[in-house]
Order: sequence, then C-alpha cells, then structure tokens
Amino acid sequence: MRVAVFGVRSYDRQFLTAANARHSHDLLLIDAGLSPLTVSLAAGCEGICVFVNDSLDEPVIEGLAGLGVKIVALRCAGYNNVDLAAAARAGIAVTRVPAYSPHAVAEFTVGLLLALDRKIHRAWSRVRENNYALDGLVGRNLHGRLVGVVGTGQIGALVAKTLRAGFGCEVLASDPVADPQLEAIGVRYTSPEVLLREAEIVTLHCPLTPETRHIVNARSMAEAQPGLVLVNTSRGALIDTRALIDALKSRKVGGVALDVYEQEAGIFFDDLSSEIIDDDVLQRLLTFPNVLVTGHQAFLTEEALTAIAETTLTSLSDFEAGRPLVNAVVVPSAG
Ligand code: NAD
Repeated sequence: MRVAVFGVRSYDRQFLTAANARHSHDLLLIDAGLSPLTVSLAAGCEGICVFVNDSLDEPVIEGLAGLGVKIVALRCAGYNNVDLAAAARAGIAVTRVPAYSPHAVAEFTVGLLLALDRKIHRAWSRVRENNYALDGLVGRNLHGRLVGVVGTGQIGALVAKTLRAGFGCEVLASDPVADPQLEAIGVRYTSPEVLLREAEIVTLHCPLTPETRHIVNARSMAEAQPGLVLVNTSRGALIDTRALIDALKSRKVGGVALDVYEQEAGIFFDDLSSEIIDDDVLQRLLTFPNVLVTGHQAFLTEEALTAIAETTLTSLSDFEAGRPLVNAVVVPSAG
C-alpha cells in the first residue's frame, strides 16, 4: 500500500524503514506534519500515518477522503487529535498503537519526578561550569511521601507499583476501574477530588477526554497540599497551564515536571532554538527554577519505537489484506 507518513523525524525513519522490510509498503516519508496546508501530499495514497500533534479535524478528514485515503494509522496510543465521527462518516478506518511500551513512559515518569524533586537538572548545569556548591539543591525523600496516581491503566499501574513497592511511597489512586493487584500492595483508591486534595505528589496517567480536560485547575490547586509536586506525561490539556503559572507564582505548587503541554502542537518535536517563540505561557513556565519540561519524549525508547513501527505497519497490512483491524479505534456511537 502507498502510505503518506507525516511528521517524520530521524527516529521514525530508522524504525519504520527497518520494520517495513517485513511489510513492503510504499512509504512516502514526509517531514511536515498533517494540516490543511499539507493534506494534498497524501494524493495517490490509500493510507496515511500520523502522530500525536497532527490535527485530524473534519476539514482535514474530508480532504483526505477526497484524495481517496481509506485508513489513518496513528503511530501513538492517544487519539484525542482525531475527529472519529468525521472519519466514520468519510468511511476512513482509524487504527492506533494501544500499547507499545508502557514501561518506556512509566520509567520516564519516575525519572522526571526524581530529576525535579532532587534537582538533578539544576545540578547538571552547575557542575558543567565547575560549580559544585550544594546550596539550593536540597530535595526530599520519596520514601513515605503520599503520591496520587490519576489513571491506573497500563502506564499508571506501573508507576504506582514502582512508587509503592520500589520507593515505599504511600499511594492514592483514582480510576473508574480499580486494579486489584495494586490494591493488594497497598494502593488505596479514592475519588479524583480527594486525591488532588490530599496527595503531596500527583502524577497524571488518564486519557484526555472532555471529562478529564483541566482536571488540574485553579480550584484543585487552591485546595491541594502546599508545595504540591505535579508530574504530567499523559496529555498537556489535563492541566490548565495558565492556572498552573498562577499557582507557581503564589508558591502553592512547589514543583512541576511536564513531558506534555496543552499548546505543544507546532512547537514540540522541532528544533526552534533559532526561532522567536510566540507562546508566552510556555516561555513563562520555562523561567521557573522548579519547572522541568521535556518535549514529549517519554515514549522514546528503542523498544517502544520498534513496537510502534511493527504495530502500525501490521495494521496497514491487515487493512490491505481485508483482515480484521485489531487495533481499530472504536468510534463513539452517535447520541
Ligand atoms: P490506558 O488506557 O491503559 O489507561 C488509562 C486509564 O485511565 C484507564 O485505566 C482508565 O480507566 C483511566 N481513566 C479514564 N478516565 C479517567 C478519569 N476521569 N479519572 C481517572 N482515570 C481515568 O492508557 P495508558 O497506556 O496507560 O496511557 C495513559 C496516557 O498516557 C494516554 O492516554 C496517553 O495520552 C499518554 N501517553 C503519553 C506518552 C508520552 O510519550 N508522553 C506515551 C504514551 C501514552
């Protein structure tokens, strides 16, 4: 199948090309992301492959359908960037990679928390200038701290297990579905409201939905523990970033580690080091000494990239052969 792959970076090229040796699709590797301006690049392709920040709203979907595109293969787990109803109307199948390596994201989450809380990122830049003073680098033990894990699916469960069994944290969790294996090691389920009010550290692992958008907001942060430490490796819009800046300025929030940001599209995944960035919210965030931001890289391990490439190309092969799409995204029913 001829497939237009949008938003290709060096690592996509490497891992997709390697996996394609077993699938033999005709991959058109395109640096640009998918947008109304670039949709025409999919001309002549039956399939397209996209990533988290490619916006598949109704006009883009209609544009793809007009070009004869029949399948959108997301090379990521989340699908909040796709208008599924529009895709269904256009007769376009949508697939994703539901689980490529929850370990990749969970391990990065714990790494971010440790780096932030023990000020490793600040120590690194000091030592590079031969400044070995420790003033201002005092951290806290993780052991015994009360951590709240919002969403205990594949990634959140690994984070909760690591923090509870590995570091000896007290762990609160919120999820519509409790995990008995976590309960067995002492993780206590509660409502999101109680979790956000009581936890000293909150880490977010639920999907972005209308219900979870801005789950961390001005009110929740006002009611949170003083000095709250917040980690988000899920989706940026789970946090109201403007409210977060206010809470950092008032010292209510004591530290933030973000791998995702609600306005990351058009910024993350690109080298903008010589550009003027228009986003004042992100720029303000980066001025705080107790904020650590990474550019949506929690997934970025060799194991995850291998699994992503294989699962994505398998979906395309299955579609071409008329086999069932095991990783199809289920379209919510109308009404
Ligand atoms: P998952 O589907 O296995 O788990 C999500 C969990 O959230 C489920 O248990 C679900 O019941 C729960 N949930 C749903 N609504 C909730 C709510 N209102 N409150 C609390 N919990 C709720 O997903 P996963 O594989 O663990 O991934 C979690 C998120 O991580 C994804 O949605 C994705 O956005 C993000 N992610 C980020 C990266 C990255 O590189 N930063 C990589 C992969 C996934």
